[in-house]
Amino acid sequence: MRCLFCKVDASASTSEEHIIPESLGNTEHKLPIGAVCDPCNNYLGRKVEQPLLESPAFRQLRRGMNVPNKRGKIPEWEHSHGVSLPAYRLMGRFLAKVGLEVLAFRTLTVTGWNTELVGQQELDPLRRFARFNEGTDWHSPTELSTP
Ligand SMILES: [Zn+2]
Repeated sequence: MRCLFCKVDASASTSEEHIIPESLGNTEHKLPIGAVCDPCNNYLGRKVEQPLLESPAFRQLRRGMNVPNKRGKIPEWEHSHGVSLPAYRLMGRFLAKVGLEVLAFRTLTVTGWNTELVGQQELDPLRRFARFNEGTDWHSPTELSTP
């Protein structure tokens, strides 16, 4: 099995990739071990998911819905913390990661799914944007505010 993001042989990997972070309540939608290599799993957790989950808007959401993190703790949030959203680029990278992983999740029962997805060059900009922070933003704030 090769990593969906960096394409290395991830057969020796040990970490399980949650498509949506556990800290957003997902306990069942996971990819098999080896679908995402340990370095990519660690990187995406630290540099994409964690800052997103720590943004005031996500903390407020998790607090309001009583969604605990992996250690069973519900985040602190008060009105004075505000509800500012994560940066557009960070949100875009998170959605790119989730999108690629959902695609993999939906094809897990198809023989050769990993080879097919890793070999799809059309997906390279998506994986490079999510994992290596390459490429331009997919939507600028101006585009999003246009009716
Ligand atoms: Zn990787």
